[in-house]
Amino acid sequence: MKCRVCGKLYPESAINFCVDDFGPLEVTYDYEAIKGQVSRDILERRPATMWKFQEFLPIGPDQPIVGRNVGATPLVKADRLADALGVEKLWVKNDAVNFPTLSFKDRVVSVALSKALEFGMTTVGCASTGNLANSVAAQAASAGLETFILVPADLERTKILGTAVYGAKVIGCLGTYDEVNRLCTQIALKYGWGFVNVNLRPFYAEGSKTMGFEIAQDLGWRLPQHVVCPMAGGALIGKIHKAFNELYATGLIDTPVTTKMYGAQATGCNPISDAVKQNREKHKPIRKPNTICKSLAIGDPADGIFAAKLVRETGGWAEDVTDDEIVDGMKLLAQTEGIFGETAGGTTVAVARKLIEAGRIPRNEEIVLCVTGNGLKTQDAVFDSLTAPATIKPTLAEFEQLSGLIEAVLV
Ligand SMILES: *Cc1c(COP(=O)(O)O)cnc(C)c1O
Repeated sequence: MKCRVCGKLYPESAINFCVDDFGPLEVTYDYEAIKGQVSRDILERRPATMWKFQEFLPIGPDQPIVGRNVGATPLVKADRLADALGVEKLWVKNDAVNFPTLSFKDRVVSVALSKALEFGMTTVGCASTGNLANSVAAQAASAGLETFILVPADLERTKILGTAVYGAKVIGCLGTYDEVNRLCTQIALKYGWGFVNVNLRPFYAEGSKTMGFEIAQDLGWRLPQHVVCPMAGGALIGKIHKAFNELYATGLIDTPVTTKMYGAQATGCNPISDAVKQNREKHKPIRKPNTICKSLAIGDPADGIFAAKLVRETGGWAEDVTDDEIVDGMKLLAQTEGIFGETAGGTTVAVARKLIEAGRIPRNEEIVLCVTGNGLKTQDAVFDSLTAPATIKPTLAEFEQLSGLIEAVLV
């Protein structure tokens, strides 16, 4: 592992920051060696899961794997959404149907818990805004690990339910995500437990790369010109781009990476998009996030600086959208593509629309939108904006009396 600030090298262990400068640690690889082990042919013959890219993940071939079936979600050619947004070539990478817990977090948790087993840990946990809690609880259950999950106490009911059902010990903390995260750091240090996004974070974050590998493979081993990605802690957007670079470094794609990366946030918690728009190197932490998009509501994102830098360096941009625009984005995605994404998906669609309308993303180039979570977990966000179903007796007469409904279809 290597410090992203000073470059100091560390042997693999459950540590996430450099002892000299507190810089985050990142896993490094020997790409020349990987080049000799994989090819497009070899990868295509492997089972369709994220683990086909194991050489690019920090888990050795003889180590146990938690979450064997994670990944390989559809890359959907989204022609109807493209029409609605006024663009020509659009895809949705649909992690709303990831296995086992319907979000992109299944990827990062699979790697982190595999590493926890390798380190001999028997208790794991996380600080979470919801999706991570679901995935840690489910995958830890399948691996027979003891689990502690700490969440802000005001989290969506569905996300708490979808954690507790797996037998995890769920603790609601009266505070923000950032405060919960700090407590987890103390617990991890004191008890030696594996907190996937704290002391296992360098390994965890690598799992995000598989979303990038899959996009490239599904496009026929080439890259899109533009990727729009939601940002919470800011890791995913950077790891998708890292994946693209690794594919080039190992000869799996033919041309150097020129993809522009765009970050999406909610206006009620927009530290990274704000830093990009204000041309500030370091984000200003948001003390009290206030948005329906709770899964992205991290006020002081661990990878904020790196995400803002990446967006600038690739020639992309970042934007944020209001809660109303998020709901509109969720409905637009559902009504054009039949994909019910969660609030983060609505954020991504709404930000894409804003960037296209502002001329930041050209209308005639290839765009991939990353939809990272499932709308069934955030039903409250859209419930009030949908028309309640009409109730009738089961007779043709009553059906035909529903004013306007039939006429609307027949014209
Ligand atoms: C965690 C999460 C993200 C973003 O992840 P980061 O790597 O922290 O930026 C995006 N979408 C959803 C639904 C998430 O749960």
